[in-house]
Amino acid sequence: MEPKYKRILLKISGESFSGEQGFGLNPDCIRSIAEDIKEVHDLGVEIGVVVGGGNFFRGRESKILGIDRVTADYMGMLATTINALALQDMLEKMGVITRVQTGIEMRQIAEPFIRRRAIRHLEKGRVVIFAAGTGNPFFSTDTAAALRAAEIKAEVILKETKVDGVYNKDPLKYPDAEKFETIEPIEFLKLRLQALDATAVSLCMDNKIPIIVFNMSVRGNLKRVILGEKVGTYIGD
Ligand code: UDP
Repeated sequence: MEPKYKRILLKISGESFSGEQGFGLNPDCIRSIAEDIKEVHDLGVEIGVVVGGGNFFRGRESKILGIDRVTADYMGMLATTINALALQDMLEKMGVITRVQTGIEMRQIAEPFIRRRAIRHLEKGRVVIFAAGTGNPFFSTDTAAALRAAEIKAEVILKETKVDGVYNKDPLKYPDAEKFETIEPIEFLKLRLQALDATAVSLCMDNKIPIIVFNMSVRGNLKRVILGEKVGTYIGD
């Protein structure tokens, strides 16, 4: 079967790197993410990945720690870089060539983000892992995903979550929560849904980039999405 998308931007949350333990890195989780990526890479899909950092640090923890918000956000961006390097290592062990590009320069460990270079890597079949978010405090890695997707001209953002799509309320708390098969971004914003932050959705709306929210812990789901199967929730017009 032919993939529906030629170039994608995959957003992986930090929590997916730690699994049940909720903190740090779990090798089984990283392996499973890498295997899924390799599977769609083998179909010839060009893949950009934005990684989160919530398994180590989130800027909003700044209050509890008494750390300045901007400093805390930089700490969060550094956390995403740890995940990026872990994913890079696992993918390369599987024979997938990768590059990490960071939104904050860290030349000894990765390339800085250079849009045209990122596109060239993708064209050459390298998986490009974008670390350190947008490089700016007060943003999230969801917004970094929306930004990088627009910059590299990805056809779609695939946002993986713990649940299998967007619900009208948290399905882990409310058993009667209802799932949306599709939802327009403006509706998503009006309802103040929480699956992604509003900045990310609004950026995608302006740039007409659809987002598919799906559960990647179900093995093979990433490939199903790529092949055009109805998985998760489609946010788009
Ligand atoms: N962050 C930031 N600017 C960005 C992206 C991320 O300041 O452009 C910081 C922010 O503090 C955030 C942390 O990095 O809490 C980790 O990212 P995020 O919470 O989005 O990770 P996820 O929830 O996907 O694991």
